[in-house]
Amino acid sequence: MSLSDKEQWARVQARLRAIVGEDNFKNWFGAMEHDAISDDVVRLSLPTRFLKSWVQSHYADKLLACWKAELPSIRRVDLVHRSAVLRDATIKVKPNEPIEAVRDIKSGAERELRIPHQPAQAAHEALGGSPLDPRLAFDTFVVGRSNTLAHAAAKQVALARRGEPVMFNPLYVHAGVGLGKTHLLQAIAWAGNGIADRKVLYLTAEKFMYGFVAALKSQTALAFKEALRGIDVLVIDDLQFLQGKSTQAEFCHTLNALIDGGRQVVIAADRPPSDLESLDDRVRSRLAGGLVVEMGSLEEELRLQILKSRAAAARAHHTGFDVPAPVLAFIAKQITHNGRDLDGALNRLLASNKLTGLPVTMDMAERAVRDLIRPQEPKRVKIEDIQRVVARQYNVSRSDLLSSRRTANVVRPRQIAMYLAKTLTLRSLPEIGRRFGGRDHTTVLHAVRKIENLVGNDNVLAEEIELLKRLLQE
Ligand code: ADP
Ligand code: MG
Repeated sequence: MSLSDKEQWARVQARLRAIVGEDNFKNWFGAMEHDAISDDVVRLSLPTRFLKSWVQSHYADKLLACWKAELPSIRRVDLVHRSAVLRDATIKVKPNEPIEAVRDIKSGAERELRIPHQPAQAAHEALGGSPLDPRLAFDTFVVGRSNTLAHAAAKQVALARRGEPVMFNPLYVHAGVGLGKTHLLQAIAWAGNGIADRKVLYLTAEKFMYGFVAALKSQTALAFKEALRGIDVLVIDDLQFLQGKSTQAEFCHTLNALIDGGRQVVIAADRPPSDLESLDDRVRSRLAGGLVVEMGSLEEELRLQILKSRAAAARAHHTGFDVPAPVLAFIAKQITHNGRDLDGALNRLLASNKLTGLPVTMDMAERAVRDLIRPQEPKRVKIEDIQRVVARQYNVSRSDLLSSRRTANVVRPRQIAMYLAKTLTLRSLPEIGRRFGGRDHTTVLHAVRKIENLVGNDNVLAEEIELLKRLLQE
C-alpha cells in the first residue's frame, strides 16, 4: 500500500470514529485492516467472522459513506474474514462481485422502503445531501411524553403535499445529545422522499458548509434558484456547528429564499435559537419565528420501549439473542438520558452473547451497563428561566430586569440574575449583556463582581442565592 493509501485510510478511520463514537470505533473497527483498493472497490478485513458480519450488518452504509466522502469514485466496500484473505495487495478485487457489504443487510421491510427511494436518493446525493441511515425512520421512532409534539410536527411536515400551505416554518427542534434529533430528521427525509413529487434534502451543518454552499457557489444565480426550486423540504441537522460569516450569509439567503418561496425548512440543534450565539440577530429571529419545539430527556417508559424495539430488531438478525424482560427493565432504569447509551448497552449484551455463546443474564447486563453510567449531567439552565425565577422571588417583572430602570429594588435583582447567568450557564459576558436588554459586557462583569463580594459578607444574601440556584437546577 502506498503512503497516500495509508493516509487515506487514516482519514477514513477518523471520519468513522467521529460518526460512531470512540467506544464503538474501538469495539468494532479497532482490528479492521485496509487490504486493497482497486478502481472503485475497497477491501477491508476483520479477524473474526463475527466481527465481519457485525460490521457488515450494522455499519456497511456508514463505512461506504466515509470512503465516498474521501474518494468519491468508490462504489463498493468489501468486507472479508482475515484468515480467508491472501494478504497480497496485488490481488485485485473483481469489480463485478456482488455488492455484499450493502446487499446483505436489509430486512424485507427496509428493502421495500429503499426501492421507491432510489431516484430520490440519487437526487439527494447530487445536491450534496448527507447519507441517510435506513434505520432512522418513523416506524422505529418511539413516541413518548417528551417527544410527542416534535414527532407530530415532524410527521406533518414530512407528509405534506407539494403546494399545500406550510404550517410552521421553520420547524426548529432542539434537545441535548442522544435524544433523537437526528433520528427524527432522517425520518422526515425517508418519509418525505417516499412521496412522489416531494424532495427532501437532509444536510448536516457541516455538509451545508462544505458541500452545499460550494455547490451553489459554482453555479450561476439562476441555477441556484432552479436547484432550490426542486427542494420541497430542506433539513439541517446540528445547526450549532454552522460557523463563519460567509457561510452564515449563505445560510440566511437560503433560509429566506426557501421560506419566502413557501418551502419547508426543518432545523435541529442542541439549543434554542436564542442561544445560538454565533448567528446574527436577523437569522436568530427568523429561526424563532416558526415552531420551536424542545425534546426533553427520555423518560423511563420511553427508554424501555426503545430498548424493546431494538432488542426485537437485533433478534431478527441474531437468532438466540434473547434479552429477558427484567434485563431490559434494568437497563432502562439504569441508563438515563441518552438514546445512544441505550444502543451501546444493547450492543454490549449482543457482543457478549455472541462472543461467549452464553445467554443474556442480569449479571451480564450489570457489567455491560457499568461503564456506561455517568454521573447525571447537570441540567441546562436557561437565561430566561433565571430571569423568571429571580423576578418572581424579588417581586419585580422580567421586563423590569431588562429595562434601564436604576431604582434599588430593580438593580439588585438584576445583578443577581446576571451573576446567576454567569455561574449557571456557559454564556459569555457579551451574550449575557445582550440578553439583559442589550447591556455592555462590562456592566455584566461589574454585576458579577458586586454579587461575589456581597455573598462573601452577607449570609442572608448568600442563602437567598443558594436557594435560587437550587430552584433553577432542580
Ligand atoms: P441526537 O441527534 O439528538 O444526538 P440521535 O437521533 O442520534 O440523537 O439518537 C441517538 C440514538 O437514540 C439513536 O440510535 C436513536 O435511534 C435513538 N433514539 C433516540 N430517541 C429515540 C426514539 N424516540 N425512538 C427510538 N430511538 C430513539
Ligand atoms: Mg444528532
